[in-house]
Amino acid sequence: MQDTGNIPDASAVARREMVDRQIRRRGVSSPRVLEAMASVPRHEFVPAEFQRDAYADKPLPIGEGQTISQPYMVAAMAEALELTGTERVLEIGTGSGYQAAVLSLLAREVITVESHTALALSAQERLTDLGYTNVHVHNGDGSAGFPDAAPYDAILVSAAAPEIPHVLTGQLRERGRLVIPVGSRQNQELVQARKENGELKSRVLFDCRFVPLLGRYGWGRPGGESL
Ligand code: SAH
Repeated sequence: MQDTGNIPDASAVARREMVDRQIRRRGVSSPRVLEAMASVPRHEFVPAEFQRDAYADKPLPIGEGQTISQPYMVAAMAEALELTGTERVLEIGTGSGYQAAVLSLLAREVITVESHTALALSAQERLTDLGYTNVHVHNGDGSAGFPDAAPYDAILVSAAAPEIPHVLTGQLRERGRLVIPVGSRQNQELVQARKENGELKSRVLFDCRFVPLLGRYGWGRPGGESL
C-alpha cells in the first residue's frame, strides 16, 4: 500500500495518543511494549474502509468474520508474555498480523499460525512488505500449537478457547509463559500461565471477549460447527 506523504507523521501522532490514553493510562507500563505499540503502523493492518479508525479504542473487522484486537488488548497480552528480546514466540491466530508485528519487536523470532488461508497469505505479505522479517506465518490449525518449531519461550493464543489446550504445555519451555483467553464462546478471562516443574501455574488477568479458537483443541473444526 502506498502512503501519501503526510500520513506517516499523522499516524505517528495518533499512535502516541493511543499509547498515552488507551494503554499507559490503563496500566500497561513496560517501556518496551509501549515503544513497540508506538512504532507499528496499525493503519497498515486494517482494511481501507476502517483506516480512519485504526487508532481508535476498539477492535476492527479484518474480513472472514475475524477482528484485529483492541490496541489495549494487544499491549496487555504482549506485556503478560514478559519478553526481553531473546525469545522465540508462538502466536496462534495471526489474523491481520498486527499482534505478530508488535511481538516481533519484543522477541527474537515469532512463529504465527492462522487457519484462514486468505488471512494467512495476506498477513505474511503485509509483514514482509513492512519489513518484519523475523515473523513466519503458517497456514493451518494452530489449536494444537506448532510442534515443528517447539519448544517456545512464550505462546500467545489470540482467539478464545474453551480450556487451555494441554498439548501447548509440551511445546512451552520450562519457565515459559502462555497467555490465552479461556471461557465460553461469548465471554472469557485472559489467563497468564507459567510452566513450573513441567506444570502450568495460571492466574486470571481480566475479563475479555475474543473470536473463537476453532480446530481440534478449540470449538470444533475451522469453519465447522461447535462441538
Ligand atoms: N492477532 C490477530 C487477531 C486475531 S483474531 C491480529 O493482530 O490481527 C483470531 C484469529 O484466530 C482469526 O484470524 C482466526 O481465523 C484465527 N483462528 C481461529 N482458530 C484458529 C486455529 N485453530 N488455528 C489458527 N488460527 C485460528
